[in-house]
Amino acid sequence: DDSPYSERTATPRDDISPARWSDLKAYSGKNKIKAWCQLPNGDWALGKVLLTSEEESVISLPDGKRLKLITEALLHANPSILDGVDDLMQLSYLNEPSVLYNLQYRYARDMIYTKAGPVLVAINPFKDVHLYGSDFIDAYRHKVMEHPHVYAIADTAIREMTRDEINQSIIISGESGAGKTETAKIAMQYLAALGGGSGIENEILQTNPILEAFGNAKTLRNDNSSRFGKLIDIHFSSVGKISGANIQTFLLEKSRVVQCAEGERSYHIFYQLCAGAPSTLREKLNLKSVDEYRYLKQSNCFLISGVDDAARFRAVLAAMNVVHISKSDQNIVFAMLAAVLWLGNISFAIVDNENHVEVVEDEGAYSVAKLIGCDIKDLKLTLSTRNMRVGNDNIVQKLTLSQAIGTRDALAKSLYAGLFEWLVEQINKSLEVGKRLTGRSISILDIYGFESFEKNSFEQFCINYANERLQQHFNRHLFKLEQEEYIQDGIDWTKVDFEDNQDCLHLFEKRPLGLLSLLDEESTFPNGNDLTFANKLKQHLSSNSCFKGERGKAFSVTHFAGEVVYDTSGFLEKNRDLLHMDSIQLLASCTCHLPQIFASKMLMHSEKVMGNVYRSSGADNQKLSVATKFKGQLFQLMQRLETTTPHFIRCIKPNNLQLPATYEQGLVLNQLRCCGVLEVVRISRSGYPTRISHQKFARRYGFLLLENVASQDPLTVSVAILHQFNILPEMYQVGYTKLFFRTGQIAELEDTRNRT
Ligand code: ATP
Ligand code: MG
Repeated sequence: DDSPYSERTATPRDDISPARWSDLKAYSGKNKIKAWCQLPNGDWALGKVLLTSEEESVISLPDGKRLKLITEALLHANPSILDGVDDLMQLSYLNEPSVLYNLQYRYARDMIYTKAGPVLVAINPFKDVHLYGSDFIDAYRHKVMEHPHVYAIADTAIREMTRDEINQSIIISGESGAGKTETAKIAMQYLAALGGGSGIENEILQTNPILEAFGNAKTLRNDNSSRFGKLIDIHFSSVGKISGANIQTFLLEKSRVVQCAEGERSYHIFYQLCAGAPSTLREKLNLKSVDEYRYLKQSNCFLISGVDDAARFRAVLAAMNVVHISKSDQNIVFAMLAAVLWLGNISFAIVDNENHVEVVEDEGAYSVAKLIGCDIKDLKLTLSTRNMRVGNDNIVQKLTLSQAIGTRDALAKSLYAGLFEWLVEQINKSLEVGKRLTGRSISILDIYGFESFEKNSFEQFCINYANERLQQHFNRHLFKLEQEEYIQDGIDWTKVDFEDNQDCLHLFEKRPLGLLSLLDEESTFPNGNDLTFANKLKQHLSSNSCFKGERGKAFSVTHFAGEVVYDTSGFLEKNRDLLHMDSIQLLASCTCHLPQIFASKMLMHSEKVMGNVYRSSGADNQKLSVATKFKGQLFQLMQRLETTTPHFIRCIKPNNLQLPATYEQGLVLNQLRCCGVLEVVRISRSGYPTRISHQKFARRYGFLLLENVASQDPLTVSVAILHQFNILPEMYQVGYTKLFFRTGQIAELEDTRNRT
């Protein structure tokens, strides 16, 4: 067997300790040693050490060039027996170039999955790889195939759920475009295949095209980018059959409905509807082509290459049937979508020299009124005036053009968000019907990864906060697990505390002086604005080591994955996310029942929290701020995940162009660092990442012993080997069943073995 080692932890960033000069000297004469050297462009190359001294070395590169560099800049390379190992922990040297090389070696051979100890790393192939389907599912189910795979993770989850009677979770993270959603679907596919039979598994799979149509969009980073987070709990009966499911979504990006960047698209469903609606529906909704709608045409992007929106529309229709959304409800859903599009086309005429406006009574206004079922006069009034209570009096204020546009867009956003929420509810009703929720479940989390752009706003703020929470879960779990194995095997081990991201979480969550509290407080002040908010942060938070005030309205946070500068522009408004009472009343007055439902939810909500949690002045409805609601959702999520055995998958994007066969080292390295894989390894480096059973060790190296040990037990043989090779006592521990080694110890033994 070529890889007798099982190893737990991953690879450290700080393992760039220079190759020991004495090692290099010993081997260089025989022209044997290979080492990593960094090229001027930052990439790493594997070179042969030709000459070396304490100060300088001469390396020959694969292309024949020679390079002279300081010896300290060289890093150990692994023996070639370790090329492309399944688990990064099998590497004797855990430095960054070794990890990058190993992943690249595998990626080039379409082995896109690699273990990093307990974590599965998945590198997006951006092409079809032949790793899926029923043959592969069978192979993993029957353990014929043991290479790292999402299927293997899903299989372990099912087994552990049954064996331990503990709920399981599969937690998928990674940047936009890294492959989280595809990975989640692959995991679902496996669970559906193993737990299928009742037909409910098909219903569960069919939720994907619906949620992707309504919640995904083309962005500059990903043609099918999820703009919401999602947790799906798949429930199993006592005999391991899927019995039902439940979906929870997090923080849909509403702003995209009314605004999106050049080259991006709004939600897929709009384009699908316009391209695929049959003519009767088209007439009923007064549907035009996509380039006639302001909300869709502003970004100058209508098509996605390789995607047939009309065909996708038909798939969504079919999926809606499967999850029992009635034809009449489907028609209302499409009417709401058309209403949102027509809202965007409503225009305003300025009526006085103070910039006050009236709604132009054109096709846009007529279509909206007809589609949502309201009086056009009410619609016009709602979009151009505002009722205010001043003392005991009601006054009617005219809106300026920008206020009116804001009101119109807010209405469009809440119609869409309400629709999304309603759809998820309908899907859940269908998946939960009867006694389908058993309480024995596997949950799959597909949530937006850490984001750091040139300009970071409220959305990134929330997303990165969520990632801090998840990272804490990740650290705690992996670190705990790591140490438990040492204790179980009885080795001498002093518990190591690791530096967690608690400080950063405090920065967000501390009350009353944390980012979220201060944001909410400022959101309720009548005169609060983005600048006063930024100043307040600087005033109160500067003592936190994770916080830094930046120029003007900006501040920065040192996240576990790096520093992010946030621009507070728009923070307060996005956090308040208010729909004016006039708009809520308009929705309540509609003859169409969906707007009525949305309105009554908003009203119910505002009553529940009136007066205590969050009061906004300047408007007359009260509700939870977006950040507070999100925080609550995350707490619930964390509580839920804490009751499960987690399985972590880290998706990696190998290039920014969505291209196959293109592996950019720097980009990959950055993600490995950001998503914390290297971090976990750094933590575990104080431990013994290489482990091998007494038997395997004795079998592999026993023949190197000078004395005859054939009749001895594996433990005795193992200890004899350790002594003969002068492995220093601090470099290993002997457990009840395994030997535990510090990094790098095995390479020398392997070398001797290979030379013999
Ligand atoms: P976002 O955060 O933007 O939602 P994501 O991490 O969910 O991104 P995906 O939408 O899953 O990313 O993947 C982006 C694209 O990469 C997919 O549309 C698909 O083309 C390709 N892709 C991802 N995983 C695989 C895979 N295993 N096999 C083939 N193609 C894949
Ligand atoms: Mg996604």
